Amino acid sequence: ISGTDRPVIRPLDEAAINRIAAGEVVERPASAVKELVENALDAGARRVSVDYSAGGKVLIRVTDDGCGMTAADLPLAVARHATSKIDGSDLLNIHSFGFRGEALASLGSVGRLTLTSRAEGHDAAQITVTGGREGPVKPAALNRGTVIELRDLFFATPARLKFLRTDRAEAGAIAEVVRRLAMAEPMVGFTLSEIAEGEAPRQIFRADPQSGDFFDALHGRLTQMLGADFTTNALKIDVGREGLHLSGYAALPTYSRGSSVQQFVFVNGRPVLDRMLLGALRVAYFDFLSRDRHPAAVLNLTCDPERVDVNVHPAKAEVRFREPEAVRSLIITGLRTALSGAGHRASTTVAD
Ligand code: ADP
Ligand code: MG
Repeated sequence: ISGTDRPVIRPLDEAAINRIAAGEVVERPASAVKELVENALDAGARRVSVDYSAGGKVLIRVTDDGCGMTAADLPLAVARHATSKIDGSDLLNIHSFGFRGEALASLGSVGRLTLTSRAEGHDAAQITVTGGREGPVKPAALNRGTVIELRDLFFATPARLKFLRTDRAEAGAIAEVVRRLAMAEPMVGFTLSEIAEGEAPRQIFRADPQSGDFFDALHGRLTQMLGADFTTNALKIDVGREGLHLSGYAALPTYSRGSSVQQFVFVNGRPVLDRMLLGALRVAYFDFLSRDRHPAAVLNLTCDPERVDVNVHPAKAEVRFREPEAVRSLIITGLRTALSGAGHRASTTVAD
């Protein structure tokens, strides 16, 4: 390219920047649900309810009883790169689900987003952002906490809309996201309901808040989420070494599944889909299961936040450990010891 045909470099406008970011953060309705529920949990909610219509394409609504926001907070909450969760100087010490300050700005740029919130000692207020256009803050009526409504997700990005799957498939992905977060936070109550036009809301599931110590609460929650069949067949895992700790429940080999649908791994309470961690789980069971069977387990790995980077991926599904080998070996030896202790000898020489 030469002369006057040379391309001109110009900055993108804010709406375009947000839409591009949204492409990474919000892939489908379930990703929006994940961001909104994580925000509710970060706000200290004890109860979170999620309602959706048409697989989340028409409506997603997340209601929480957390700390809420003031009228002055609302424009900041929907602004890009504004967050109450970190101060920017310490990206290695993250204790909340969120920290990028991108989710609400992204959702407001690709859908019709309404935040209604009330912080203690303040009046309730509301703000709407539609396809990146921000409306004024208005007074509202709300007892406590926050209600976030997202309508017509991707109406502003029709190309993305076309890639969505059937309502049923998207609803399934939403349920999966809420289930994972419900397993990560047993002390919090969750409800998930589908609202079909002209019909009464249909409850998909409800998980009451659990109490007791970590293991009691998790046990109760897993009975709700995976069934008593899982918990009565699961071994308690509680092992640690050198600042790494692995806790949760791992099913006996006799409870194995034909697929990996019952494998849930959390890092410092954050649901992750990490290949290294799932690989270690598979290796741990290798001698106990025939090749076509998959272990079932719910495991939470905790460590100093400085030893794991959750900022590898916009949706934070992958993580990177400073000492991956130590993590891998803790999972493998921790699970193997528990399985051997339960009298489950390696199911020797499985005919492949
Ligand atoms: P992040 O979670 O990374 O901070 P978000 O865009 O998801 O970014 O949210 C921006 C800010 O809005 C949060 O830091 C928080 O202060 C506020 N916020 C969002 N959702 C809620 C909620 N449900 N309750 C209280 N505050 C919220
Ligand atoms: Mg967030």
